[in-house]
Amino acid sequence: MRAFACGHCGALVFFENTVCLRCDTPLRFDPERLALVTMDQGEPWIDCANRGLAGCNWLAEREGALCRSCELTRTRPSNSDAAGLEAFAVAERAKRRVLVQLLEFGLPGIRQGALAFDLLSSAQQSVTTGHADGVVTIDLAESDDVRREARRRQLGEPYRTMLGHLRHELGHYMQPLVVVGDEAWALCRGLFGDDRSDYEAALERHYTEGPPADWQERHVSAYAAMHPWEDWAETFAHYLHITDTLETAREFGVLMQRPRALGTDDSQPPVPPADPGEGAFAQVLAGWLPLSYALNAINRSMGRDDLYPFTLAPAVVDKLSFVHRRVLDAGHAP
Ligand SMILES: [Zn+2]
Ligand SMILES: [Zn+2]
Ligand SMILES: [Zn+2]
Repeated sequence: MRAFACGHCGALVFFENTVCLRCDTPLRFDPERLALVTMDQGEPWIDCANRGLAGCNWLAEREGALCRSCELTRTRPSNSDAAGLEAFAVAERAKRRVLVQLLEFGLPGIRQGALAFDLLSSAQQSVTTGHADGVVTIDLAESDDVRREARRRQLGEPYRTMLGHLRHELGHYMQPLVVVGDEAWALCRGLFGDDRSDYEAALERHYTEGPPADWQERHVSAYAAMHPWEDWAETFAHYLHITDTLETAREFGVLMQRPRALGTDDSQPPVPPADPGEGAFAQVLAGWLPLSYALNAINRSMGRDDLYPFTLAPAVVDKLSFVHRRVLDAGHAP
């Protein structure tokens, strides 16, 4: 995510801010300009109708209308469901972050009529997080930290967040929009496997037998080993994790130098694993590997779990590289 400055006093402000903490100037996010704006920067603004309900800080086009992000939500908890609405606000905040990233890549399909979200709570009914035909369903109970952590442990996952769920499900949605044409699909199936294989059987096998013992050599997560669709969605989510975190670090002026422990011998690469490989993604990875190492070490200094608890095997790097090319190709296409 880009770093933003208050248009009035120049202080650093976050994407989620509704007011500058230094000068009290109100701030809103303008989804047309993809920028945080202050009231004194020109036109009068219209708050998203979910300003009070979901704490949304985006601008809407018309009085009483929802913003470009909130209008994509087709179902939400009822006005009488206080706990559900609290969870809904948490999910909407994560959703705005993902949508901005996709919009900044210039990816297609982020519009009403094509994409919709059902934000439901499994505390009220049975809800399965997933994607089908442009509808992303999210279990709002996952916005509860205790509940989500329990589920993470139960499933043996190293990482589980609302942002991660949204990135994964939007990966499913984006796949046919960025993998276009026979040639691209042949490459995709060569890397991820044939997505036409039986999904129900794969699901059953995953939950009875678990992932294959060597999954880490071929997949970014154990869940990705379940079926080619899940492999794509997991890899796409990681692509968004990596590129967003890298951008944030750069925006805040975080520069990676050689770790001191490696001395000044420039002939040795700073980080041993994963061959960056050829092509444009090699550059992304060359920035990401030392940064994620440092961030993991920093988290350990605070007694926290690793920020990025994953290793990227060469086969996974090939898949990420493919996602990168597809996103670049589909982004800002006419
Ligand atoms: Zn300010
Ligand atoms: Zn909104
Ligand atoms: Zn999935």
